[in-house]
Amino acid sequence: MKEKQPLAIAGGRPVRAAFLPYARQTVDEEDIRGVVDALRSDWLTTGPVVERYEAAFAEAVGARQAVALSSGTAALHAAVFAAGLGPGDEAITSPITFAATANAVLYQGARPVFADVEPDTLTIDPAAVAACVTPRTRAVLPVDYAGHPADYDALRALAARHGLAIIADACHALGATRRGVPVGRLADLTVFSTHPAKHVTTGEGGIVVTDDADAARRLRLFRNHGITTETRERLGQSAYAYEMVALGYNYRITDVQCALGLSQLAKRGPWLARRRAIATRYAEAFRNLKEIQPLAVREAVEPAWHIYVIRLALDRLAVDRDAVFQALRAEGIGVNVHYIPVPWHPYYEGLGYRRGAWPVAEGAFPRLLTLPLFPGMTDADVGDVVAAVSKVLEAYRR
Ligand SMILES: *Cc1c(COP(=O)(O)O)cnc(C)c1O
Repeated sequence: MKEKQPLAIAGGRPVRAAFLPYARQTVDEEDIRGVVDALRSDWLTTGPVVERYEAAFAEAVGARQAVALSSGTAALHAAVFAAGLGPGDEAITSPITFAATANAVLYQGARPVFADVEPDTLTIDPAAVAACVTPRTRAVLPVDYAGHPADYDALRALAARHGLAIIADACHALGATRRGVPVGRLADLTVFSTHPAKHVTTGEGGIVVTDDADAARRLRLFRNHGITTETRERLGQSAYAYEMVALGYNYRITDVQCALGLSQLAKRGPWLARRRAIATRYAEAFRNLKEIQPLAVREAVEPAWHIYVIRLALDRLAVDRDAVFQALRAEGIGVNVHYIPVPWHPYYEGLGYRRGAWPVAEGAFPRLLTLPLFPGMTDADVGDVVAAVSKVLEAYRR
């Protein structure tokens, strides 16, 4: 038998000297040249590079329209506006997401309703969604958790039955497909984030794709104060007049950011392939480790693997998730947790949400751990994660 290595948290030698983050952007010289070119151009914002980036993004996911905004959160907010939600309306979403998904509903004065998730994918459970529908329900916001598309077949049938809009929070899912159909074509409005942790980056940024030209018009209005024309259009028409017809925001993205996005987008194929290869390597490495249950992948689905989430079999361990988390951090592995259930946050408790209503999500949360996964990881980095996870779980096995 192999001799047990003392854990770094107990004074042993860490698996890694240099900390490995859970996510990291890849930026190369070509990206930098693109940004510098934009800086030398006439337009730093609302210029032609924004439009080129939008066209490239729409093409990448097979959508007719794309509208880029200053963040994924702004993109979610704009999508909720474009879907026409307002005070008195309800929108159903997942408790296992980043707070921004539900916050976007609150921003427009509507009420988020949380529906429980499926136990093996942690994506929203269509049966739970159906049980949450009321005469006030206007939209469903599924989250493609970890890059695995939600069950859009069931959700679309439900949405059609009740006249609901589907706004996909696909911030994890650029490049994922379901029955061969790319995320971006599965919902009425699909929202991506281009934060540095995501598949491609613009620093901060988000983008909404849709086939609905009127929704795209509303998205453009919303990111520009609710004003009907943008500066460059007025310049072209030698006109100064403009109309503000809705309460919008300054949610614009710059040409400098979009130059980075355009350059990044061209590399998404190999990056996605690398994410998939790393996910496969983890799945194989942990196949016989009974302390770990990976998330399920549905047969019709090709996930985009934004994050690699494991569920700990706590009944086989002498410690809880937080102890495993701390031990792995001490080994130099940047594990994380996605997510604390949104209705558990004090702000949501203040709005009247009470724990206990989402037994599947709330039962999964104490077992969740996110392992590092990004395209720039070397095989040695992946090996370090596997070694550290095995080391820690063997030490804590009961
Ligand atoms: C990243 C993310 C967001 C927000 O995106 P930002 O660009 O950081 O504003 C929203 N929802 C989910 C699920 C995300 O992962």
